[in-house]
Amino acid sequence: MSGSIVLFGPPGAGKGTQASRISSLTGKPQVSTGDMLRAAVASGSEMGSEAQSYMEAGLLVPDEVIIGLISERLQEPDAMSGLLLDGYPRTIAQAEALAKVEGVSAVISIEVPDEAIVERIVGRRMDPETGMIYHIRFNPPPSEVSSRVVQRKDDTEETVRNRLSAYHEQTAPLAGWYEERGVLIRIDGNRSIEEVGSAIEAAITSRGN
Ligand code: ADP
Ligand code: ADP
Repeated sequence: MSGSIVLFGPPGAGKGTQASRISSLTGKPQVSTGDMLRAAVASGSEMGSEAQSYMEAGLLVPDEVIIGLISERLQEPDAMSGLLLDGYPRTIAQAEALAKVEGVSAVISIEVPDEAIVERIVGRRMDPETGMIYHIRFNPPPSEVSSRVVQRKDDTEETVRNRLSAYHEQTAPLAGWYEERGVLIRIDGNRSIEEVGSAIEAAITSRGN
């Protein structure tokens, strides 16, 4: 498949969890705007400090900041045959900006009802050494890792409500936008990690990888 693939869905849908499998399948490097923003916050850059207040409040970072970040990433040599975009675009303005510079061959929409999202987000843990994503109940870390896993600052019940509102108001309309362009693939994300991964793999393979 030429062009980029977009992983789309609400916070906690399983985009990051599925990304490495899809990246291995397609050979496209995974690029997560959330990870890029967290790295910018940790580095203390000007852009990071601007983004931090939005992220901690569960709001989307302004389009111009994100569009600038991705435009630079698309110029790296490994982006030549497309990227696996995890969490970008999240607004119509971002999708329009992307469409000007990059073809999108598939948008994988991982669909999970709001009721399931809160438990997924609140139980999410991250291994700071490997970047692996775990869940205290659904995907517990192995014992040698469990003492070092961390919880993201924005993974609280209060913040997740704001993130879900931002999703429904600003991001969900993008599904229709991509459906009109014939690239949307809907995947039922309310199943086991393995079942969701197989469904995505089957959908990508049937489209000619
Ligand atoms: P996203 O990148 O879409 O925000 P993540 O991949 O980080 O989502 O997953 C959110 C949380 O839900 C993590 O704790 C992850 O382990 C868990 N998770 C992911 N997929 C599933 C699934 N199919 N069933 C149950 N829990 C899942
Ligand atoms: P999740 O998948 O759990 O929502 P992410 O790691 O993708 O988490 O994003 C974390 C936060 O980073 C978002 O709540 C938002 O503040 C910011 N962010 C990430 N990607 C974007 C984007 N494309 N546009 C605007 N803000 C973004």
